[in-house]
Amino acid sequence: MSCIFCSFIRESHRCAKVGEDDLLFAFLDHAPMTRGHTLVIPKVHAEDLFHLDHDMYRLLFEGARRIAAELRMSLGAHRIELVVEGYGQPHLHLHLVPQYENKSVYKRRQISTQELIREAEHIASFLVPAFS
Ligand SMILES: [Zn+2]
Repeated sequence: MSCIFCSFIRESHRCAKVGEDDLLFAFLDHAPMTRGHTLVIPKVHAEDLFHLDHDMYRLLFEGARRIAAELRMSLGAHRIELVVEGYGQPHLHLHLVPQYENKSVYKRRQISTQELIREAEHIASFLVPAFS
């Protein structure tokens, strides 16, 4: 089966990777709604949240909470929005969308690959060693 998110896990140079551990992988959305818009995915291919076993379900959200804390710290975000989505890609993914004061979240930004990678490296430098 061809899944672009699974290919990002195998070949992380194809995306702006923020970090990973044994079970999760995080990278920046290629068309971010705000600066630092991050996708968190389980390394195991799962089509939706309800295909995860209980432990993986819990670990996914615990990982998202860790990354959200790092996004707040590294980018000075006011708060982090969470969206569970599976519309565009058949691989479960959580969107962590940093919110900044007076910024609309409903318009995606155009951003160069180089800028996206610089942003991912900046965020990754704040991550705890277990998730980098
Ligand atoms: Zn996949």
